[in-house]
Amino acid sequence: MTSPITQSGSISSEIRSRENSSRENGVDVVVVGAGIAGLVAARKLHADGYTVEVLEARERVGGRLLSHRRAAGDAEAALDLGATWFWPGEDRIAALITELGIRTHAHFLEGDAIYHDPDGSSRIEGNPMDVPSGRFTDGAQSLTTAIANDLPAETLLLASPVSALRFADGSATERTVTVEHATGTTKCSHVIVALPPALFTSTVDVSPGLSDRVRGVAEITPVWMGAIAKVIAIFDSPFWRESGLAGSAISHFGPMREIHDMSGPDGSPAVLFGFVSLTETSNAPSEAEVRNQFAELFGPAAPAPIEVVIADWRAETYTSPVGVERLGAYQAFGHDLYQQPDLDGRLHWASTETSPVNPGHIEGALVAAERAVAAIVQSLPKPTLQGTNS
Ligand SMILES: Cc1cc2nc3c(=O)[nH]c(=O)nc-3n(C[C@H](O)[C@H](O)[C@H](O)COP(=O)(O)OP(=O)(O)OC[C@H]3O[C@@H](n4cnc5c(N)ncnc54)[C@H](O)[C@@H]3O)c2cc1C
Repeated sequence: MTSPITQSGSISSEIRSRENSSRENGVDVVVVGAGIAGLVAARKLHADGYTVEVLEARERVGGRLLSHRRAAGDAEAALDLGATWFWPGEDRIAALITELGIRTHAHFLEGDAIYHDPDGSSRIEGNPMDVPSGRFTDGAQSLTTAIANDLPAETLLLASPVSALRFADGSATERTVTVEHATGTTKCSHVIVALPPALFTSTVDVSPGLSDRVRGVAEITPVWMGAIAKVIAIFDSPFWRESGLAGSAISHFGPMREIHDMSGPDGSPAVLFGFVSLTETSNAPSEAEVRNQFAELFGPAAPAPIEVVIADWRAETYTSPVGVERLGAYQAFGHDLYQQPDLDGRLHWASTETSPVNPGHIEGALVAAERAVAAIVQSLPKPTLQGTNS
């Protein structure tokens, strides 16, 4: 079965949404986007006593952290349709995992890889496709669900896409920014833009506009994985391991160009995933094409997937702007202009693309969120008591 991405990854019922919000007194900070960057920034600001509102366009949190939930025996498995791994040396993600009590396990590496080209598939000794990394046992989205569930109910508004930011004259400590969104308006002193810069410039009206240089960089900054389809295939058992295969493959034929094991900690559920690069002339594959490729890789006698899910990130309007596959200026990642606020110090960048360290990774989103929060704390007097400054 092929599931539309929007139906995957159910969210906790504890995450609330409100209708018709217009906070009369406003808040210190509005965070646009409840991906990992936006939520981590909101968590820190709230802990420091600032009033915060997180406005999220989708009816779920997590952004590019999205876990497809399905029954696995008596339990439930959460299979990642977005981010899969974290790596050694990513200290912020390691600290967050510990702080939130997130379950993890090591990525499966053992065995040989498969090489696939138009002539067929062959075995490569060893596994050059994978490096040691960690996996989120309950899905990467468990990070954002845990943070969202910890925030006070009034802090997070789902299904509230932001359409405009109006900056009036005034200091960075006054509530001079009006944020227009689908469920109302909110006044604030600072805004954190926690969505990909190119998506922001193409979907949110800013007045007065961003400075020309900043807009120029934002418009060309690629969206990490925005032009990718991720395919997950669930099997009855990790049959490839029985013949000494790691489940990894490199393909010069496609549609999946690289494939990795994404099974649970003990091989259950048994899952492989693949990446498909989307271009101006190619679209996400059909389920039949995916099934054919698995048969070519492992041979026609190999077990077929019991379920296939294809997540087309280019089709996600709250991740990828139109024409995302044409954005190739990766040198704009972590650009100097993102390291300082724009519009008199009141607009702060916080998506992973704006981080000079590990841009594209979850770790990069955490670095960017940290920088945005630090700039706000520096310019907005710290509240003496939590919640007394609204
Ligand atoms: C297929 C895939 C595989 C990946 N694999 C890995 C991996 O293995 N390891 C890793 O570290 N990283 C990986 N990544 C990248 C990782 O997912 C991102 O770095 C991270 O999730 C980015 O977080 P973010 O908060 O910066 O942005 P996002 O997650 O994109 O969050 C932005 C949020 O803003 C919301 N939004 C958009 N427009 C508006 C609007 N107008 N108003 C309000 N809200 C809005 C969106 O709905 C979204 O919730 C992968 C990504 C994909 C797609």
